[in-house]
Amino acid sequence: MARKSALVLGLGISGCTAARMLADAGYQVTCFERECHIGGALFDEIRPNGIRINPRGPHILHTDNEEVFRFLKRFGAFYPYRHRVLATINNKTVPLPLNARSLEILFGEKQASSLLSRLTAHFPDQERIPVDLLMKSKDSKLIDLGRFIVENILTLHVNTKDGSSFSPLDDSYENDDMVDLGTDDCYYKDSFQAMPIQGFTSLLENMINHPAITAYYDTSPLSRISIHEESSSILLDGAPFKGPVIYTQPLDRLFGYKLGALPFRTTKITIRDLQTDFSNESAVIVMPKGSEYVRITESKHITLQDISGHTTLCMESPYSSVVNGWEDPFEPDLAEKNRKLYSQYLELAKNYPSLFLLGRLACYRNYSISESIEQAMQCIAAL
Ligand SMILES: Cc1cc2nc3c(=O)[nH]c(=O)nc-3n(C[C@H](O)[C@H](O)[C@H](O)COP(=O)(O)OP(=O)(O)OC[C@H]3O[C@@H](n4cnc5c(N)ncnc54)[C@H](O)[C@@H]3O)c2cc1C
Repeated sequence: MARKSALVLGLGISGCTAARMLADAGYQVTCFERECHIGGALFDEIRPNGIRINPRGPHILHTDNEEVFRFLKRFGAFYPYRHRVLATINNKTVPLPLNARSLEILFGEKQASSLLSRLTAHFPDQERIPVDLLMKSKDSKLIDLGRFIVENILTLHVNTKDGSSFSPLDDSYENDDMVDLGTDDCYYKDSFQAMPIQGFTSLLENMINHPAITAYYDTSPLSRISIHEESSSILLDGAPFKGPVIYTQPLDRLFGYKLGALPFRTTKITIRDLQTDFSNESAVIVMPKGSEYVRITESKHITLQDISGHTTLCMESPYSSVVNGWEDPFEPDLAEKNRKLYSQYLELAKNYPSLFLLGRLACYRNYSISESIEQAMQCIAAL
């Protein structure tokens, strides 16, 4: 029996998951990826010194969803990994999210214990408390703690030089949890935290290695597909395509930016190879205020590679805002006006019944790896 056909546009984790699920469900899948390699934001590569890095920022698999982890393990082996992040504040180095130990180092035993009691009293059912909740609490000491975090950690990303300044507490910014009521210094809390032994690029290559999947690289999807308003259909090389079309790139591009560009924030990552065993104390160091870089990742702490005499650092500059033409979008600028613009694009997209939007760019959301996989699984299962 002839296989049904599907198109997948973009081969990040969202597109790769969708492609594999479609192939497993009996579809013949054609994929177009604009870059010359697979992976999107998850792409990793080996430096000349042998160290694997993720040039678009560190990526750690963390999930509470066993099905997601089981799915990924079909395509490569994983090692357990607990991610640790340190921040340097007022010349003191503390674990992030701030935990009981961080509060003690920063404020002394007495004040830390008072803050912890207040936190427990205000948030009895929460292990981790986001900054915006601290700021909204009626307790002046907790509001002060929130302000301290904003000033010393969150504002580091604000780039005042390029006019992209924003308040870390405004509606354009999604806060990570920032205070942990325990002593655990792990960055994530999820039940499964792991890294692929051969890296994410290799894992994704294995994922789409299926006789029913054909992938074209260096091929902008929009050079092959277009939307046809009159017939509410998607055209492939000018002819109507009958099957599902999975789109994972920015939605404004698909519609030729006709309503305007959806803004993202991005950053510049500078890579430096050093001839030393290790340079930093942990995988990620959040730098003190006023530093040239916001965050420094030392990959060897994550890859656990046994390479002596060499290490590699990835150093992130503060965010800058970019629209239309950016290379590596970090996160959507979720200001109210941009959410509205996205909804308008979504309304346009609804006119195309065969079009399915997946992933952080097409959905203009900050999805984790796990959430991206869950979304793709649900979408394909419902076809
Ligand atoms: C710096 C950073 C660190 C992260 N760390 C983690 C982490 O530790 N753990 C975690 O679970 N999640 C993390 N995430 C989220 C994770 O990257 C995403 O959930 C996941 O990679 C989304 O995959 P995707 O396929 O939806 O999108 P992507 O992989 O971003 O890309 C999908 C497609 O869009 C294309 N594309 C990219 N840019 C453009 C452009 N400018 N124009 C047109 N097409 C474009 C890509 O080539 C690809 O084809 C992080 C994200 C960032 C930005």
